Amino acid sequence: MSAVTPAPSGDWLLESALAPVVAGDVGDVLAPFYDAAAHGELAMPFCAECDLPLEMEQRVCDGCGAAHARWCAVEPSGSVHAATVMHRLEPGLVRVDAPYPIVDVELHSGHRLVMTTVHPSSTAPPIGAPVRIGFRRLGDIALPAIESVEEPQ
Ligand SMILES: [Zn+2]
Repeated sequence: MSAVTPAPSGDWLLESALAPVVAGDVGDVLAPFYDAAAHGELAMPFCAECDLPLEMEQRVCDGCGAAHARWCAVEPSGSVHAATVMHRLEPGLVRVDAPYPIVDVELHSGHRLVMTTVHPSSTAPPIGAPVRIGFRRLGDIALPAIESVEEPQ
């Protein structure tokens, strides 16, 4: 094993070795997502035929059966659908030795996205709480993460 040199300014949670590998070729179904994130935009897939929100790697629309996704920038906000706190001690990959939140966010666009937080946190936000989404940087990759949590309505 080679020594891992920590990046001067990295993600609070994970080592950059865990950054997703983005090929950037035409066949990479998630390339539009990472391209948008690199510019601070949250892009999600919709059916090109009927505008139904699609899952990240979904290829065929449940609504109309079309197999064409259209990626559009969406409002970077939503609410907490589900949340848990992960306890994982894994030096070299996970930078913290405290629990960290994993949150399933329901975006206003109708999509669901699982993320952690931009800033270190050891607690999960309350179910239903409105959240603003920003980005963490893991290696060269920007990943959506909860920027701020408001009080549930
Ligand atoms: Zn459709």
